[in-house]
Amino acid sequence: MLVIKTHSPDETYAFGKNMAKLLKSGDVLCLAGDLGAGKTLLSQGIAAGLTVSAHVTSPTFTVLNVYEGITGSGQELPVYHFDLYRLQHPAELADIGFDYYLGAHGIAIIEWPDKFPEFLPAERLWLTIKAGDGPSERILCLTAVGTRYVELCEELKQIADSCC
Ligand code: ADP
Ligand code: MG
Repeated sequence: MLVIKTHSPDETYAFGKNMAKLLKSGDVLCLAGDLGAGKTLLSQGIAAGLTVSAHVTSPTFTVLNVYEGITGSGQELPVYHFDLYRLQHPAELADIGFDYYLGAHGIAIIEWPDKFPEFLPAERLWLTIKAGDGPSERILCLTAVGTRYVELCEELKQIADSCC
């Protein structure tokens, strides 16, 4: 497990922005943590790293927001930003096309993935944000499942050393 400490909202945002540069189509990022942990802020950083110009908000009511991201090399990379908080039943995942988007070209960011753990892809990056000491510290705990995410974690370790 990779553990990264951030000391301010800006640091979490910057980590997301740097992380975005390492992402590839098909990547699934599960963002867990209590309300106010920083899941949406981290998502905003990731979107900014993919030069998303739209304002990224919490998809709490829409469940899914789709953004048009662009990689550093100019390739389009859609961002599927889910928030499963309000869903009551796994059948609702089908209603929003969950599996379709996870199989489509782009990256998926899933807030509240712990609502339906058994319906998530087996391979994913699991990132839990916990409170740290004081109101502006957060502990990001990253767990990789699958070789792609072990590789991604290795790369993230390097950027974390330089940004947090
Ligand atoms: P979530 O999506 O997990 O409910 P948000 O990202 O919407 O949380 O909100 C996180 C809140 O915590 C923001 O108001 C942000 O300013 C605050 N915050 C304070 N310190 C940090 C930090 N180190 N990282 C992320 N957010 C932080
Ligand atoms: Mg949120």
